[in-house]
Amino acid sequence: MTLFDDLGVRTIINAKGPATRLSGGPMAEEVAQAMVDASQVCVQMDELQAKAGQVIAAHTGAEAGYVTTGAAAGLLLGTAACVARLDIGKMARLPDTRGMKNRVIMVRSQRNFYDHAVRDAGVRIVEVGLPDRVAGAGVRDAEPWEVDDAITDNTAAVCYVASPNSKPALADVVAVAHRRDVPVLVDAAAQLPPAGNLTRFIEAGADLVAFSGGKAIGGPQGSGMLAGRRDLIMSVALQNLDMDILWDQWAPPEFLIDKSLVKGVPQHGIGRTCKVGKETIAGFIKALEIFAATDSSARHAEWLDRVRRIEAGLRDLNNLSLAIRNADDVEQVPLLEIALAPGGAHNALDLLTRLQNGAPSINLDPSRVDQGAMIVNPICLLPDQVDAVAEGIRAMVAA
Ligand SMILES: *Cc1c(COP(=O)(O)O)cnc(C)c1O
Repeated sequence: MTLFDDLGVRTIINAKGPATRLSGGPMAEEVAQAMVDASQVCVQMDELQAKAGQVIAAHTGAEAGYVTTGAAAGLLLGTAACVARLDIGKMARLPDTRGMKNRVIMVRSQRNFYDHAVRDAGVRIVEVGLPDRVAGAGVRDAEPWEVDDAITDNTAAVCYVASPNSKPALADVVAVAHRRDVPVLVDAAAQLPPAGNLTRFIEAGADLVAFSGGKAIGGPQGSGMLAGRRDLIMSVALQNLDMDILWDQWAPPEFLIDKSLVKGVPQHGIGRTCKVGKETIAGFIKALEIFAATDSSARHAEWLDRVRRIEAGLRDLNNLSLAIRNADDVEQVPLLEIALAPGGAHNALDLLTRLQNGAPSINLDPSRVDQGAMIVNPICLLPDQVDAVAEGIRAMVAA
């Protein structure tokens, strides 16, 4: 019996992938054990973050790193760091940014729900570019000169949302921003795999990169990391750590915080709201180490096997057409696309909703229901749930 049983909370089959709404994914036993072990002792949090930061730095090629409570928390902390830098008076005033650099430039096509975390720091977002998505009258997205054009004395940062389709190229945005001494904060929350992305954005010149820990890295659901410049990570730490300490008593590890660069002990910062527990840091670092040590093709083979088993279990249903995506690309997540015959008895959204509300509750990716398709993402499936996905879909389609 788990506590969830005691509470009467149903456990579900998560075939959508590591979505926050569906509680992320199951953690590996070693990751869970690292959290249990951490929970049995006490440590100095700044020392723990400094050592964790060294692990992040080693895996990302960045100067420094920091464990956060998610990529969104990383965006808030990263933005606050770009605004306040090492000025502890400014840190204390956030989110009131009057008199500070308080504009963050974003390419319009990269705006998304998570950039609320950037605005949480008290900045306004300045959009650039005019991507044509509907009229059919344009061929371009934003161009580097448009980012350059938007930079003023009030620009705190450029926020860049990484994806295989992001435009302009990160390196071109970095070149323009750095020429004007503006840092670039990258949202790379869900950009793993490919594992090469751990280092790619730092290599392209990003000053801070935010990743989720609860997605493919396989860490605690509420975890993530920032990798980047040492002075900005120091500002992140100063605005996230608990600061209830006397100056003479305060002896932070120098890798994380150089005490000689601040004029006093900061007050609790804007990031104190997203405090990171020792269990989260332990679980995240363990998961990051496992992720980095696991061969992409081994990870891909395991996911592909799950997808193939589900596909095999549905193959004889003639009102479905099945396609496995990314079967040959070990740097992508293999997905099963289940398309319903047009004009058939079932509508994709209706079927997906009934699967979600069934017993067991089977949750698929709805991002293509408007095209009549449901998607199975294998990342969060437990071994004994794989066949249940096929069975559940069969039963529902036959009904
Ligand atoms: C998932 C996601 C986030 C939020 O990550 P959390 O770790 O859940 O805070 C931010 N940005 C993008 C693009 C994402 O996909």
